[in-house]
This record gives sequence, structure tokens and C-alpha cells, in this order.
Amino acid sequence: MGMLDGKKGVIFGVANERSIAWAIARALRHEGMELAFTYAGEALESRVRPLAGSVDAKIILPCDVTGVAQIKNVFDALKAEWGGIDALVHSLAFAKKEELKGEFLNTTREGFALALDVSAYSLVALTRAALPLMEGREAAIVTLSYYGAQKVIANYNVMGVAKAALETSVKYLAADLGPKGIRINTISAGPVKTLAAMGITGFKGILDMVETKSPLRRNVTQEDVAKTALYLLSGLSSGVTGETIYVDAGYNIMGI
Ligand code: NAD
Repeated sequence: MGMLDGKKGVIFGVANERSIAWAIARALRHEGMELAFTYAGEALESRVRPLAGSVDAKIILPCDVTGVAQIKNVFDALKAEWGGIDALVHSLAFAKKEELKGEFLNTTREGFALALDVSAYSLVALTRAALPLMEGREAAIVTLSYYGAQKVIANYNVMGVAKAALETSVKYLAADLGPKGIRINTISAGPVKTLAAMGITGFKGILDMVETKSPLRRNVTQEDVAKTALYLLSGLSSGVTGETIYVDAGYNIMGI
């Protein structure tokens, strides 16, 4: 018997087996949740399908979050297949590689808009589309942020601004969703070696810094993050919404 038997959830953000979204999906499945997956673009389909199949997922759909029609298509399909959903995982972000190095000052208008659209606005769009399927189900949403939303991290640049928008969007969404009994929270994860992270110039130096300076003297794993996602998407966190919870080996609490 799993804690999430009979529950249904949709996962946005699996690219490969290193993705944080994949670790979250496995943790949810381990507790019995039935899962649906989306993938961003044809190139990723061949990676995501076998992973989704390995956790018995039947619904696997394309969804580039910049596309209104693709978002609608996903939630139409979920409504038709399941009637409703209990969980949504938003574990995705994007900025052009050239925006993730050098000075933030040089961020282009186009690069700024793209990073904010994919990495922050998409949470609003997905939440709005999911809402009719979540009402009356004590459903929950979780998204992924990083400390670069709060403090300046070299080369993180426009993604830090996008994560700040994401964390604040979670608070406003929590206020809108709360009266309907739906919760939404952010996990601010420490650095983890994934496809997205490798796009950040100097990422290895960030990993080394956390290992040296964090209270736990180590980096976190995808599984560390997934356990907190499980808490936030289950009844264990029934009184928690609008929060940013750090899963970073304690790095964020350190001063000098
Ligand atoms: P990842 O590369 O495995 O996942 C990023 C996902 O974003 C991919 O699945 C990609 O397909 C998706 N994506 C990008 N553009 C998209 C679009 N237009 N439409 C739909 N999906 C799109 O890397 P990850 O590290 O697992 O990233 C997941 C989340 O965790 C991101 O929000 C990231 O910022 C956040 N995060 C990562 C770290 C880290 O160090 N890895 C730390 C804190 C937060």
C-alpha cells in the first residue's frame, strides 16, 4: 500500500535519467501514484518514452510550454483519460547559453523575455490549465527554483531573475488556489549535475563550493530533492502552501 495509491499526477521536465523531474516521478510512483509525462520537442521523445514506460505511464505527450495549443492538448487528454489530477510537477527552465555567462548587464531583451516566459510564466499557464482538473481533489503543485533567485550567483544572470519571478508567482498562485484547497510550493534545490545545469558557466565551481561550505559538507542528489517533492505533493504537507523550501544541504543559511 502506497501513500499515493489511486492518485494521478503529471510531470513536466523529464529530459533524461538525470533530470530532477525523473527522480520526483520515481518517488511518486513508488508511493503508488499513476503518472503522465510530457516532453519538450521530438528530440526528447525517444528518451522520455522508455523512462515513462518503466514506471507504467500510459499518457506521454509533447509539450513545449511556450505553445498554448500544446498545453491545452495535454490537459484535454488528461481530462478525457482520468477526469482529474492530484499533482503537477513543474521542473523546467530555459535560457540561451550566451545569457548564462559574463555580465547580467548584457542580457538581451529577447533573451530576458524567453527565459522569463519558459522558466516562470509557464508555471502560471500550466496552473491555470490544470485548475479545472484539480478542483475538489486537495491537489498540489511543486516547482523548482535555485538560490540565484535570492543572491547573486556568477553567470546565473537572467535565470536568477526568472527564478525570483517564479518564487513570487508561487506566492500569488498560492493565494488564488488556497480557497479551493489546492496547494503550490517551490523547492529551492542545491546544484545537481543535470543537462540544464551543465549550461551554466562555472557550474563545477558551484558544486565544489557547496561541498566545502554547506553544513552537511556535501552536495544534494536528485533523490534528496525528490523526497521533499513527495512531502509537498502528499498529505504530509497538508498545511503548507506558498513556501520556498531549501533542499541544499543547508548552504543558504551560511554567512561568514
Ligand atoms: P534537466 O535539463 O534535466 O531539465 C530541464 C527540463 O526543462 C528539460 O526536461 C527540458 O526539456 C525542459 N524544458 C526546457 N525548455 C522547455 C520548454 N520550452 N517547454 C517544456 N519544457 C522545457 O535539468 P534539471 O536540473 O532537472 O532542471 C529541472 C528544474 O530544476 C529547472 O527548473 C532547474 O532550473 C531547476 N533547478 C536545477 C538545479 C540544478 O543544479 N540542476 C538546481 C536548482 C533548480
